[in-house]
Amino acid sequence: MRLEGKVAIITGGASGIGHATVQKFIREGAKVLVADIDLERAEKVVAEVEADGHAGSAAAAQVDVSVYSQVEAVVQRAVDVFGKLDVIFNNAGIAGGKPLLEHDPAVDYEPMIRVDQDGVYYGILAAGRQFRKQGTGGVIISTSSIYGEQAAELAFTYSAAKAAVISFTRSAAYELAEYGIRAVAITPGRVGTPIINQFSEELRSTFASEQLRNKLTEPSEIADVVAFLASDEANVINGTVVHVDDGYSVFKKRLD
Ligand code: NAD
Repeated sequence: MRLEGKVAIITGGASGIGHATVQKFIREGAKVLVADIDLERAEKVVAEVEADGHAGSAAAAQVDVSVYSQVEAVVQRAVDVFGKLDVIFNNAGIAGGKPLLEHDPAVDYEPMIRVDQDGVYYGILAAGRQFRKQGTGGVIISTSSIYGEQAAELAFTYSAAKAAVISFTRSAAYELAEYGIRAVAITPGRVGTPIINQFSEELRSTFASEQLRNKLTEPSEIADVVAFLASDEANVINGTVVHVDDGYSVFKKRLD
């Protein structure tokens, strides 16, 4: 019950890492607004956690994180439903990519920047304003990626957006510390969610071999870390990147 009494918004909460984090937060006693562009699936997640009968409670909200007015509205919704806001997990994201010289900027750059980069900025801004207004402090956790710290195949735009998430986190921690607000970014490696599960068995097994336990990370394993980071036990972790990549970023396999 390390999140007892806390109110959290989890964007992208209808699937994958976000879905697992909703489940974990509820088990830890939080009240969660499941915010996703896919309202139907967000509502299913709420029904599922309610049926589990855990300590926390949940509500669903539709949001397109690439539109600031919608992100502001979702922050207000959390306050209307649960009375305040303590945590935002800026996790909604899209993946994919083409070789750079085949880009159509309107297709291969702008939409992804709007969701993966602008969406996180909007979450930090809207939640930050709410935390300042409440005078309670707050925690901002944002999902970057291993690709936010390296160049990767077919990931020109994705890497840029995920690098921005790390930069936003540092600057937000620095600027918002005076209001008792903490900011942390996580960099997942290869996690078994729909983003990865759409690929062939062969590619998924290559992805697994890039991690030290030779398996895809379970979404619930990321959720466990996010719950810790959201809790008061992690108060000293601020402005930094927490690598949740099962060693992906620390080794390179020998080429035989
Ligand atoms: P997922 O596709 O299972 O979940 C993403 C969720 O975001 C979906 O529910 C989707 O509806 C929602 N979403 C998409 N666009 C949105 C928008 N504009 N507004 C609101 N919601 C929107 O994927 P996942 O793997 O759980 O990804 C979660 C985050 O983790 C993403 O930011 C992703 O880039 C990041 N990530 C994933 C991996 C991985 O291996 N799966 C690795 C590194 C980083």
